[in-house]
Amino acid sequence: PPLYKQRYQFVIDYVKAHRPRKVLDFGCAECALLKKLKFHRNGIEILLGVDINSAILLKKMHSLAPLVSDYLQPSYEPFAIELYQGSVTEKEPYTRGFDLVTCVELIEHLEMEDVERFSEVVFGFMAPGAVIVTTPNAEFNPLLPGLRGFRNYDHKFEWTRAEFQNWAHGVCREYSYVVEFSGVGEALGHWRDVGFCTQIAVFQRDFRGINWCMGSSEHIEPSVYRLVYRVVY
Ligand code: SAM
Repeated sequence: PPLYKQRYQFVIDYVKAHRPRKVLDFGCAECALLKKLKFHRNGIEILLGVDINSAILLKKMHSLAPLVSDYLQPSYEPFAIELYQGSVTEKEPYTRGFDLVTCVELIEHLEMEDVERFSEVVFGFMAPGAVIVTTPNAEFNPLLPGLRGFRNYDHKFEWTRAEFQNWAHGVCREYSYVVEFSGVGEALGHWRDVGFCTQIAVFQRDFRGINWCMGSSEHIEPSVYRLVYRVVY
């Protein structure tokens, strides 16, 4: 399957294994991952999509609406999807205490000072139980035919494994998380040692850390993000 599908599948597998109740997808764009997660709910009760670009949210958001089959076989577990226009650099109290935050191919679109803010907002302020971050592995680029420079004109950087891991370990030290590295899209033969095409970090809150007792978003209304779409199943 194409790489983007492998990235979504990685998240779906994680959800299947860890069963988060509240999930937030940053940089959700045309809601493709959200749409998959709605079909593979595995106990998710609230699914938030956040993107800085409201026009991109509007494009396909109606694909998140219930289908006729959802009405014919109503589920009694609570389930809602909400889309917001907002930035990973904004502190929205409503987003604190989620179980899982996903950032699929997002950080490489941020200027370096915004990566710093992103780290503080996500790991320091929101402090979710787990965070999945995917980003291109620059070491894989020589294997991509015809590629000059970055994989996308909007990328501000593409990190080697060492650069990504260095950032991730810094985040763990500062905000009490532990991290495991993985990826999707494997190189073959003697290219194997360049690593995955997409590198992935899975962070878990380290509950032995000091700042484990953060407020939860329960009963708080969003005050910073702008609501774009909401559907309750
Ligand atoms: N995650 C999606 C996927 O994998 O299919 C789309 C990734 S797309 C390459 C990056 C997305 O991040 C874009 O939709 C862009 O609007 C969004 N984005 C860029 N900067 C952002 C920010 N500061 N806060 C929230 N979203 C942002």
